[in-house]
Amino acid sequence: MAQIRSEQSPASIGDLKRPAPSSLFADSLACACGLLTSLLTGVLLWFVTVKFHFAFHKVTLWFIVPIGAFLSGWAAASGYYLGYQMYQRRPGRLLLPNVLAASVGTLLLIHYLTYLTVRAALGKLGDTMSFLSFLDISVRSTTVRLMGLTPPSPTLGHFGYITTAIEVLGFAVGGLAVYSYLRSEVYCVRCSWRMKLKGKQVRYTKQSEDLLVATADVTAALKAGNVAGAIERHTACGSFARFPNSIIRSVCSVYACRHCGRNTAEFALQRPQGEQWHSLRESITLAHTDSPIGLSR
Ligand SMILES: [Zn+2]
Repeated sequence: MAQIRSEQSPASIGDLKRPAPSSLFADSLACACGLLTSLLTGVLLWFVTVKFHFAFHKVTLWFIVPIGAFLSGWAAASGYYLGYQMYQRRPGRLLLPNVLAASVGTLLLIHYLTYLTVRAALGKLGDTMSFLSFLDISVRSTTVRLMGLTPPSPTLGHFGYITTAIEVLGFAVGGLAVYSYLRSEVYCVRCSWRMKLKGKQVRYTKQSEDLLVATADVTAALKAGNVAGAIERHTACGSFARFPNSIIRSVCSVYACRHCGRNTAEFALQRPQGEQWHSLRESITLAHTDSPIGLSR
């Protein structure tokens, strides 16, 4: 879904120049939830590792895709998702560093708890071992094995740093999945509440040229602040059923703010990529109105 920051010439459509600031309360709540889920994830994964000798966060697909780390990083950062679900506001600027800290920090937490466990098991012997030297030993003594099929490989030595880097990346990408979901939502420019999708209208034409002509019409109306007129023009263009040779389509989506009632119309041209259609970034145009907009199929 396109994002509100792609907005074109906001001044010309009578919009506020700067979006409303994020809510400090929502950001703090999400941060607290994120901290809680990363702590819980870290403790749970550490417990499973020491109790069952199974490090879920180290599971990979084909030895290279860190699926366990991705899911763990995602679970660690899920508190941010929950926080912003409870209090649906635009996340503040600190979301990205927060989410990354929660996901990658969880990996560090697992290692630190394991370090404490090993130290306790070694008794007096462990007193001289620092966390860093423990990390080094544990990275270099990494082994790989095919789930229950083969015995563990010899230790990887310095190559273990590569598998560990892949693991860190997996945790980070898990957190980024939560981040990109929250960023892709549409938020009200006026009050920063998350907007609700009211409807979506898709149009295909037999000839691509016809769609481009209609697009010029619709975007001109949007830029002039005539949202109802733009929707009327879009409704009148082409058909909602796809033609066999359609390589481009236009989509008009309408969002409504639950708080201030403001309606936002988003127009975009889309091209197919595999099974899905993707918006052309330069074609995205947004306009806002305080009158409610209806959208037919
Ligand atoms: Zn609003």
